[in-house]
Amino acid sequence: MIRLENIYKKYTLAGETFNALDNVSLTVNKGDFMAIIGPSGSGKSTLMNVLGCLDQPSSGKYFLDGEEVEELSENKLAVIRNTKIGFIFQSFHLLPKLKAIDNVELPLIYRGMSSSERRQQAKEALEKVGLGDKLHHVPNQLSGGQQQRVAIARALAGIPPLLLADEPTGALDSKTSRDVMGLLQDLNEEGNTIVLITHDPNVAAQAKRVVRIQDGKLTEERVEAS
Ligand code: ADP
Ligand code: ADP
Repeated sequence: MIRLENIYKKYTLAGETFNALDNVSLTVNKGDFMAIIGPSGSGKSTLMNVLGCLDQPSSGKYFLDGEEVEELSENKLAVIRNTKIGFIFQSFHLLPKLKAIDNVELPLIYRGMSSSERRQQAKEALEKVGLGDKLHHVPNQLSGGQQQRVAIARALAGIPPLLLADEPTGALDSKTSRDVMGLLQDLNEEGNTIVLITHDPNVAAQAKRVVRIQDGKLTEERVEAS
């Protein structure tokens, strides 16, 4: 599903070059639920940006769903982002004036579906996250946990091969956080491949595999009983 081979990301600050990603190699298999954990400044966002095709590494190879993501044009990267990855963010990133169903439908516009197909797929995604009765609520009529569920439905709606979540519970209280992690676990059990980035060991503990990043290096990898 994902293969990173010897990925470096170099930054130059005040004339000094350092590796924000330092020889990172990683394989994510279809059906995995992987947490990447590390403290602030360890390189998580940099790795997220590479995995999400938002930024290119300085060197190394990245394969996503059978396609090599290397030296592609910005347009090609945008197509990969829109078709292969469902993004979930800490702060939900919902459009406040749009109803839940319209927020979920929005990314499907790039998929060349008819409007009735989009509607149906968005409705099914919201039902899957338990919000079948909130299709016409706007974000501020929903709790934080519900807003994150809408965002998860939006990520799911296009049935992408990868769900990529950046601190998905970072804005939620601990109970809501557990509910959202439970939803991600259910989605993984249904076959969705999930990579989640977090600084929180309690969140990482709920994933099936944990990879640690420190100073741009993947320092440890373990498979946990789920
Ligand atoms: P994390 O997400 O784990 O907090 P980041 O990936 O944001 O870590 O940052 C990793 C390292 O790279 C940090 O030392 C950070 O200061 C540096 N860094 C990140 N982005 C840039 C940039 N655009 N230019 C220079 N240095 C950067
Ligand atoms: P939680 O206890 O999970 O934080 P809330 O107290 O925010 O949830 O919301 C409880 C219920 O009230 C939810 O079903 C939500 O959809 C509804 N709700 C919350 N805020 C509003 C609002 N401003 N207008 C209408 N319904 C709301």
